[in-house]
Amino acid sequence: MNSLSPTLSRKHARKQTNRCADAALSACPCGGSSPCCDRYHEGTPATDPESLVRSRYSAYVKKLDAYLLDTWHPDTRPASINFDDGAKWLGLEIKKSAQESTYTATVEFVARFRIAGRAHRLHEISRFVFEDGLWFYVDGQFPNTGE
Ligand SMILES: [Zn+2]
Repeated sequence: MNSLSPTLSRKHARKQTNRCADAALSACPCGGSSPCCDRYHEGTPATDPESLVRSRYSAYVKKLDAYLLDTWHPDTRPASINFDDGAKWLGLEIKKSAQESTYTATVEFVARFRIAGRAHRLHEISRFVFEDGLWFYVDGQFPNTGE
């Protein structure tokens, strides 16, 4: 009896831990582990362009239009963000990030998403500028259109 009860209580403890739910809570849409983009969405400035790409990708997933507009340079910022309600974002892959000077950088990435069952791939080289202590998204080029 003495040797049996600890085994029982361990089993009970394990049953209460839902590992799948834990993983879903800690994983960030961008593929990073928590704390990841949430802190940027909550107001901490992204310290480098790659973090900004990640947090902006996650913001698209979570439909945080205010964050997307705030991190968009005023010169190129659209009036509003149109989210495609049918798009299901599948993942982000950072290909290359390069800081050309103190104030300019580019990040090449591929974002995958699905619309109406069809898989799509957004391959973009984004430009960023550093102004007033913050990184801003300026615009993007699409190196392999037709892919
Ligand atoms: Zn993230």
